[in-house]
Amino acid sequence: MHVTILGSGSPLPDPNRAGPATLVHTSAGALLFDCGRGVLMRAGAAGIGVGALRGLWLTHLHSDHVTDLNDLITMRWAMAMVPQPLPITGPVGTADLVRRTEAMLETDIGYRLAHHEDLTWRPDDPVTEVTDGVVFDEAGVRIVAAPTDHAPVHPTVGYRIEEGGRAVVIAGDTVPCAGLDALCRDADVLVHTVVRPDLIELIGLPRLVDVLDYHSSVRQAAETAQRNGVNTLVLTHLVPAPAPTEADEQPWVDQAAAAFDGTVVVARDLATVTLDEGDG
Ligand SMILES: [Zn+2]
Ligand SMILES: [Zn+2]
Repeated sequence: MHVTILGSGSPLPDPNRAGPATLVHTSAGALLFDCGRGVLMRAGAAGIGVGALRGLWLTHLHSDHVTDLNDLITMRWAMAMVPQPLPITGPVGTADLVRRTEAMLETDIGYRLAHHEDLTWRPDDPVTEVTDGVVFDEAGVRIVAAPTDHAPVHPTVGYRIEEGGRAVVIAGDTVPCAGLDALCRDADVLVHTVVRPDLIELIGLPRLVDVLDYHSSVRQAAETAQRNGVNTLVLTHLVPAPAPTEADEQPWVDQAAAAFDGTVVVARDLATVTLDEGDG
């Protein structure tokens, strides 16, 4: 298994950072978690075309995590030689979002069906809504979901991807909670969205200060990783984002290291974390 951070950004447009999206490469294929701004550009840079995705798993329906759902649906459909629906999994509300996105795309779907003689089917991506438990089990790869806490945004879920005795956790946006702890137990890699209260309070804009109450601080993410015996903590969805330089990233590492003994990675777009072969 290995993990590629496709987008390390947040809702705030950033020339260096695409929106939240993470690829987990497994024996069951390339698994995509969230589909923020620029996801297919970054997937292309990682060598993964839209047709190669085994499925999409959404942590929640905040705009920054689903911005490019329309692009995924359109490209998956319009570039396929035969019908190749993209299985989409997410919290309750996902089916509605997919249906409404398809409705939004109706004009374009009509244009393409009329123009391409060999395109005779419509986008029809199957959706599974999940709350917790095993949500995928194929080719020795298992995905377990659990509820997270991003209140008042509800419902939200995190995912644990397991293969060969190794585990990667995609936390999404959440404060520390029991569901996330359960996913993180003895995981190899935890990909966690984080904010910096010290910097946000310094900036002081009310709209920005609001985000503090439903995101984990770097310290809280580090404590979650420490409490659950995680090996590598990947900080992503960084608010306010550092420049992608070691000097700017070091304070983020230091804050995490104050509460966590393992390896800390400050995500940049297309950063890859490789897991050793497990012992099953
Ligand atoms: Zn969110
Ligand atoms: Zn977010």
